[in-house]
This record gives sequence, C-alpha cells and structure tokens, in this order.
Amino acid sequence: MPVPKKKHTRSAVGQRRSHHALKQVKLAKCPKCSKPILPHTACLACGNYNNRQVIDIEAKKAKKAKKDKKKQQQAQQK
Ligand SMILES: [Zn+2]
Repeated sequence: MPVPKKKHTRSAVGQRRSHHALKQVKLAKCPKCSKPILPHTACLACGNYNNRQVIDIEAKKAKKAKKDKKKQQQAQQK
C-alpha cells in the first residue's frame, strides 16, 4: 500500500480544496409556463423548447400513472 512521504500542510490542503466548491445552478425561466428550467433544456412541466412543443406531457403523465398503478398492484400481491 502506498504511503505518503511528506505531511500535507493545511495550506496545501486548502489550496487543493479551493477548487472543490460547488457552483450555484443558474436557472432560466420557461417562456411558456415561467417555471424555472435548466438553460438549453426542454421544460419538463409543459414540454416546451424554443417555442415548440417537443415533449408530449399528457402521454408522459399517462404512462407514468400506468406504471405507478402496475407497481402498486405488484406490491399488494406480495
Ligand atoms: Zn414550461
């Protein structure tokens, strides 16, 4: 097993960790529903991107509901 040869000073540790801070996520606003969204990303609330409908939200919701129902039924059988 490798063993460190020299002690890392608090200064060296601090200098290394000076780059570890997380940056705050910058959110844009959806022009259609004004919900916060990641920039250059389709809105997951209304499926809008660049003033176009790119995600069928209703179909997605129906699919999720069906999946949840199936999961619930499987949990009840056990
Ligand atoms: Zn939206």
